[in-house]
Amino acid sequence: MPLSPTLFPTLINSVTETIAAHAEAVTELDQAIGDGDHVFNLQRGLQALQTNSADIAELDWPEAWHKIGMLIMSSVGGASGSLYATLFISLHKQSKEKNIDLQSFAEVFALAVDAVKQRGKADVGEKTMLDVLVPVAKTLKLDVAAGKALPEILDHVCETAAAGMEATREMLATKGRASFLGERSIGHIDAGAKTAQLMIEAVVGVIKKAVFAN
Ligand code: ADP
Ligand code: MG
Repeated sequence: MPLSPTLFPTLINSVTETIAAHAEAVTELDQAIGDGDHVFNLQRGLQALQTNSADIAELDWPEAWHKIGMLIMSSVGGASGSLYATLFISLHKQSKEKNIDLQSFAEVFALAVDAVKQRGKADVGEKTMLDVLVPVAKTLKLDVAAGKALPEILDHVCETAAAGMEATREMLATKGRASFLGERSIGHIDAGAKTAQLMIEAVVGVIKKAVFAN
């Protein structure tokens, strides 16, 4: 069951749909502690990826990740643009081979999330997308190393993402615009953590369908 970038148009459609479905709720979160443009920023990037999705589908994963990263970098403003561009460009840089299996993906994903940490000079506990990305990378790596079955890993990844997103509610923001609010940032889920969770859930949904449909 090779999951090749031929899946990319489906992936990008699914991510676009989930962001559209939650746009109002995410914007409310971002207006509470950010500047309210997070959904707009993501949608610009998703639009650029949509436009190029047929080309991306022809590539191997490392090349696809490079192209995705460059498209995000050139189309998205805001902190989230440079952080997601870093994630995908690092996936490309860290991939030693063209053929990516679950084990090698778990490894390169963890390294790419480390690159995002460095880029944003941030870590878990600071009320950002990293509160979703870091635990998800860890869960994926540990579950793959433990030899767990794919359905179990995918469910665990979604649970981890949801828990990480929820945990940002009671955190004090120390990075990004929300940090300007100090104590007033407490009590709101971080918009970037919410969209990271939604996008991971969408990706997992597409993978489940592709792998277990028949
Ligand atoms: P901006 O903050 O520049 O307006 P966005 O609104 O698109 O950009 O994205 C905001 C999200 O980016 C935040 O909700 C947070 O999750 C994430 N973020 C902001 N700064 C950082 C950082 N230094 N490290 C990791 N994530 C960050
Ligand atoms: Mg913003």
